[in-house]
Amino acid sequence: MIDFTLNDEQRLLEQSVREWAAREVAPNIREHDRKHHFDRDRILGGMARLGLLGVSVPQEYGGAGMDYICLGLASEELEYVDTSLRVIMSVHAGLNCLTLLAWGTEDQKRRYLVPQAQGTKIAGYGLTEPGAGSDARAIQTTAIKKGDRYYLSGEKSWISLADVADNFLVIAWTDAEKKKQRDPSGLTAFIVERSSKGFSSGPMKEKWGILAGNTGFFKMDEVEVPDANVLGKPGEGFKIAMFALDQGRYTVAAGATGLIRACRDASVKYAKERKTFGVEIGQHQLVKEMIAQMESDYQSARLLWLRSGWMKNNGARNTRETGLAKWFATVASERAAGDAVQIHGANGYSDEYPVGRYFRNCKGAVIYEGTREIHKIMQADYLLGYRSDRPTRCELPPFETLKSQV
Ligand SMILES: Cc1cc2nc3c(=O)[nH]c(=O)nc-3n(C[C@H](O)[C@H](O)[C@H](O)COP(=O)(O)OP(=O)(O)OC[C@H]3O[C@@H](n4cnc5c(N)ncnc54)[C@H](O)[C@@H]3O)c2cc1C
Repeated sequence: MIDFTLNDEQRLLEQSVREWAAREVAPNIREHDRKHHFDRDRILGGMARLGLLGVSVPQEYGGAGMDYICLGLASEELEYVDTSLRVIMSVHAGLNCLTLLAWGTEDQKRRYLVPQAQGTKIAGYGLTEPGAGSDARAIQTTAIKKGDRYYLSGEKSWISLADVADNFLVIAWTDAEKKKQRDPSGLTAFIVERSSKGFSSGPMKEKWGILAGNTGFFKMDEVEVPDANVLGKPGEGFKIAMFALDQGRYTVAAGATGLIRACRDASVKYAKERKTFGVEIGQHQLVKEMIAQMESDYQSARLLWLRSGWMKNNGARNTRETGLAKWFATVASERAAGDAVQIHGANGYSDEYPVGRYFRNCKGAVIYEGTREIHKIMQADYLLGYRSDRPTRCELPPFETLKSQV
């Protein structure tokens, strides 16, 4: 049975992240958001000190060795303050580090996972391209093999931490014939270092949400990558990209849950301060309805991500459950943010109050890591028997194994 009581370690982690984000980030977040400023040293330094950058990585590999529920709790608390913080958990701790943990060789874990978990190196995930998002098989990046090296060329766009991360998990075609046929067994995953010759990056211009975070593109012009940096086996790139999404979506689900809670708390506060027709607006039934919906959405979203975390802890395949948690929480967060602005009336339409920022920030999560539509299709396909999950060669280690590796 699932036990919903947080243990001492989980409670302590939740409390520490909550206090740190309230103390170190919340006071300046409005200004940083308005100035499109990513407060790199304070944020990454603070998260590293709290152990968040390697939260569910075994201590043997430089991490904190905490369970997957702790990863979810951290994501929820971070996005309660600002989405940009949770995005770091998604791409660095989720998409990248957990994928290295499951699929990496011992050498790759020593060279990349250890510094990433310790927070001395930051990591990202590069799948999307200008012409390929939901349709991942449409990517154009190629990796051509010469001797014991690959040469990667192509462009990845809408990449979180593109200008910040040191290492990227990059998906590219290694089989030209399979590329033509769109056969995903022609895709391979690589660990690419920013410092490589031929690598360049820049910010996504005109982005209107998650403004205190970094989102950009990177280009690879014959970037040389040794055989030793192929993650998994050649041809396993698509499976690895999807495996990574199981981890990233989990953090997105938990984060969106935090955003719903932030909307709920801001709305309750405002509904008791603002008066119309001689009473607090919280007295109006239609305002109550919006607040009640936020509570219902918050509690439901939390249960869904907790179930995924519990499954991860127990080594159970959770693609279906994590997808549902991500879909539900992100759509609910959009509803909550829209209603939070509504409850604030014209004040909600101004950055004087945080709900406008929540409204801008929530939308990204309805798009990335599987759009609302892709998740809908996935859930229907499971029910209709058009989709099922086959075992992958490498799985996320259950929590008990994480501990025993220490
Ligand atoms: C803030 C932000 C950060 C991001 N960070 C990263 C990152 O770190 N790494 C990374 O690789 N990518 C990242 N992305 C990219 C993201 O994953 C893609 O935007 C996403 O996969 C959707 O792809 P797209 O934008 O090309 O939309 P498209 O795939 O072109 O979709 C456009 C619309 O068509 C719909 N659609 C597409 N196919 C179907 C279908 N079969 N049935 C029904 N409807 C369909 C979609 O749901 C959507 O509404 C990020 C995006 C954003 C906004």
